[in-house]
Amino acid sequence: MTSPTQTTSPTPAADESDILILGAGPVGMTLALALAGSAHRVTLVDAAQPGAAADDPRALALSHGARQLLESLSAWDARAATPIEHIHVSQRGGFGRTAMAARDYDLPALGYVLRYGHLAAALARQVAATPAIRLLTNSRAVDSRPTRDGLAVTLQTADGPRHLNTRLLVHAEGTPYDDPAVSVQDYRQHAILAEVVIAEDHGRQAWERFTPDGPLALLPLEQGFAIVFTVPPAKADQLMALDDAAFVAALQAQFGSRRLTFTGTGPRARFPLALRMRGDTLGERTVWVGNTAQTLHPVSGQGFNLGLRDAWELAAILKHSRDPGAAEALQRYARGRQPDRQGSALFTDGIVRLFSNDTAPLRLARGLGLLALDIFPPARHFVAKRMIWGARAWP
Ligand SMILES: Cc1cc2nc3c(=O)[nH]c(=O)nc-3n(C[C@H](O)[C@H](O)[C@H](O)COP(=O)(O)OP(=O)(O)OC[C@H]3O[C@@H](n4cnc5c(N)ncnc54)[C@H](O)[C@@H]3O)c2cc1C
Repeated sequence: MTSPTQTTSPTPAADESDILILGAGPVGMTLALALAGSAHRVTLVDAAQPGAAADDPRALALSHGARQLLESLSAWDARAATPIEHIHVSQRGGFGRTAMAARDYDLPALGYVLRYGHLAAALARQVAATPAIRLLTNSRAVDSRPTRDGLAVTLQTADGPRHLNTRLLVHAEGTPYDDPAVSVQDYRQHAILAEVVIAEDHGRQAWERFTPDGPLALLPLEQGFAIVFTVPPAKADQLMALDDAAFVAALQAQFGSRRLTFTGTGPRARFPLALRMRGDTLGERTVWVGNTAQTLHPVSGQGFNLGLRDAWELAAILKHSRDPGAAEALQRYARGRQPDRQGSALFTDGIVRLFSNDTAPLRLARGLGLLALDIFPPARHFVAKRMIWGARAWP
């Protein structure tokens, strides 16, 4: 009988590792791959079974910069990605709109949409093809204690407890739902996700429509759209209870009927939305990256893009650090990431607050803001560059 705990490489020795990454999600796998050329022995641990990510209902909008990073790791699946060539931003029941186009930035696309499962599969293929990475699935850490020059970690695996010594422990287990070290700001909004069919050609255009309930995002994916339909929790209960035809009608009513005609939908899933910020992303020979460090509202599609940059910057520093758990190297990493973390959280939180309130003065301010973005190219370019490059949008 084969064990559900997989070992993709016989090295390093069973109980020694330099860098132990907890969580083989997109951020954990990106970090492991980015470290692959270094002298460090990397172990990647995930609580789930191999291939579990295929069932994840999320579609992610990735920036052009994210594509470049993933390409450099041979983990970009071009066939699975639908380019976004145009973005249209507007508010329901108010004036003002703005539009951005890839051609204004001499790029083939402003970003790309792909299913979480396809992104994870492309990374997992590359992890499996990299002998320097040891992958343990169906396993989680249950204890960690300091030793003279590292940490002794106990893993719970399907075969029983397993002990591992490491010099650095990286937390990449995704959103922390119950951790006193993380501040939580509940948006009292739930995102309903679905893939929907339309009567028209989407023309590789993404739509961001702000409504009194919350933002509604339509991301072009293959022939249809992946939607992020944000509403208060009670309305999410109602929408989840509808049959498909009634849900499509509710979506049409929320979006408006002038520009697109929705004709069908796939299964729905829901996510409660909150801003979760870890105050300190460092501990003794320990670092938190990706969603464990910060979980943002999906409105501006920044979450994974930000986590990817966490992984990239951490790998760049660790590659040149003889002791990957050395406090000086970790502090340099945390200092360097602070502006991007704070900037992305502020940007995203600001959009949610500005666009989720339906008082008349705010509606007017939003309309003027959208108009200003449209007629004032530097402001529009700033927003577009944040979508394309992330933190590099700042001068
Ligand atoms: C509705 C929605 C839409 C989104 N849209 C976008 C978007 O358009 N663009 C974008 O950039 N981002 C988007 N995001 C955010 C994006 O999904 C996350 O930022 C990204 O998935 C974070 O990756 P991660 O690897 O840190 O965590 P995760 O993707 O959550 O992966 C965590 C991994 O850790 C494993 N794990 C969990 N617990 C343990 C444990 N105890 N031990 C070991 N392993 C464990 C899990 O099995 C999983 O494999 C969206 C999020 C939501 C909710």
